Amino acid sequence: SKSAAIIGAGIAGIASAIRLAVQGYTVDVFEANAYPGGKLSSFELTGADTGGIYRFDAGPSLFTMPHLVDDLFRLAGRNPADYFEYLRLDETCRYFWDDATRLTAWADHDRFARETETVLGEPADHLLAHLHDSAVKYDVTEKLFLHRSLHKVSTWLNRDALRGYLNLPRLGVFSTMNHANERRFRHPKLVQLFNRYATYNGSDPYQTPATLNIIPHLEYNIGAFFPKNGMVSITGSLVKLAEDLGVRFHFNTKVTQIVTEGKQVVGLKVKSEKLKVENKRNEILTSHFSLFTSHYDLVVSNMDVVNTFRKLLPDARQPERILRQPKSSSGLIFYWGIKREFAELGLHNIFFSNDYRAEFEHLFGQNELYHDPTIYLNITSKHKSDDAPPGHENWFILLNAPNNTGQNWDAVIDRARENVIQKLSHNLGVDVASLIETEAVLDPRTIESRTSSSQGALYGNSSNNRFAAFLRHANFSHEFSNLYFVGGSVHPGGGIPLCLLSAKIATEMATSSKQ
Ligand code: FAD
Repeated sequence: SKSAAIIGAGIAGIASAIRLAVQGYTVDVFEANAYPGGKLSSFELTGADTGGIYRFDAGPSLFTMPHLVDDLFRLAGRNPADYFEYLRLDETCRYFWDDATRLTAWADHDRFARETETVLGEPADHLLAHLHDSAVKYDVTEKLFLHRSLHKVSTWLNRDALRGYLNLPRLGVFSTMNHANERRFRHPKLVQLFNRYATYNGSDPYQTPATLNIIPHLEYNIGAFFPKNGMVSITGSLVKLAEDLGVRFHFNTKVTQIVTEGKQVVGLKVKSEKLKVENKRNEILTSHFSLFTSHYDLVVSNMDVVNTFRKLLPDARQPERILRQPKSSSGLIFYWGIKREFAELGLHNIFFSNDYRAEFEHLFGQNELYHDPTIYLNITSKHKSDDAPPGHENWFILLNAPNNTGQNWDAVIDRARENVIQKLSHNLGVDVASLIETEAVLDPRTIESRTSSSQGALYGNSSNNRFAAFLRHANFSHEFSNLYFVGGSVHPGGGIPLCLLSAKIATEMATSSKQ
């Protein structure tokens, strides 16, 4: 049978492996880390006072479009429920402002509209119209941008494309998200709430086109979901499926070069670390390397595309215009074990900055955190009680952060921790600092080093430019006929659903005889 190699066991790499195995390929996945999932992984901390165990999902916390995961099980002729279970959330998020305003975004549109009318005095039909408009935009965009390669002529010469052209004015390509939301809503808090969706792909609502108002469609119309065994079970269940299909995973094994011959990729050079012994600070004490080259008919890189070119293909033509695009924002994450429960908090919570525009001006204009940051607080123990000891909560706190350009992160982290504690203590009426019994931190540097993401960006290139969709790398190589790219740094974009779609586009191209 034909053989394929995947560089990286991120979600898009795993999905590509499954799709190729279903097509009859023998598949090897090489992963630099000791574990699969890349950003979509999990870890535990022990409480210093109680000795209790807290489990945290390391990266993604919001699960949308679960059918894209189910599709992989069905494609392989399996029953998704045998591998993976999730529930649909009734409330999508709880919003808090420093002036004591609180608002719950309900999945049920009418209930959400009543809430915005009661709390903010915003006419219900404004909200309903916004959610409807989001669905219309999504419908046009989906077939044109999300399920196809933008880099094939066929994408632009079909009925969906024609519909796209006719509906171009409705897509909001020529105004910003903030501008569109200010026109829609009277209340600045609702403008802020809907501007936040720009951050779902690491962009700035004051620059990104209003087209990104398609994002709320995922959360409110298709729904927000929670995997019953935590976000990491998306990774775990797909790895299980891949293994059931015969895919071989090689952990602690880093690809160091893509070997080419003319216009073909012929194999990979890999460096495998066996018998690696680490101390508690992750310092490597002893390790034994083996270096080898393997040959494949097809290679799919799930490594960030900038690093794929710079590190694995340094002698190939570098698509500079794409590689040098500004990157999306990154994140600063505090994982805290909290010695109390809070009834007023839900699974997803947002504490808004008092000056959203200033926050984004700092993030994208000055590459620094704002002193009054918007705080996203995720607590999985609300739905999965064994994620924290009884009476306790596992807090995942995410701040939007600039990508890594060499800032003094240790100082930034210390300042941010103070600001977060102050803001949460103000909103919750307690001294939050005294409740933290264990902590871990993830910052743009560690995101970069753990997943090889260029500048620690969460979503590859930013979408602040209206042509951004065209400035992501294609899912195939223009130079080598059997090399493909998947994951958050290439088309169609970052986030779990789009990464899964990248695997679909790339592998369908790779295995179709028409290509
Ligand atoms: P990655 O997760 O980037 O993994 C790439 C893998 O390739 C890594 O395991 C790396 O070790 C491996 N690798 C790289 N180079 C090599 C090499 N040379 N050899 C071998 N292995 C290599 N998305 C959502 O949908 N919802 C959210 O709520 C959400 N929140 C997020 C919060 C945070 C804090 C972060 C960090 C991300 C979040 N995202 C969210 C984004 C989402 O996590 C990513 O878009 C997605 O997981 C990226 O998957 P990927 O397939 O591109 O691979």
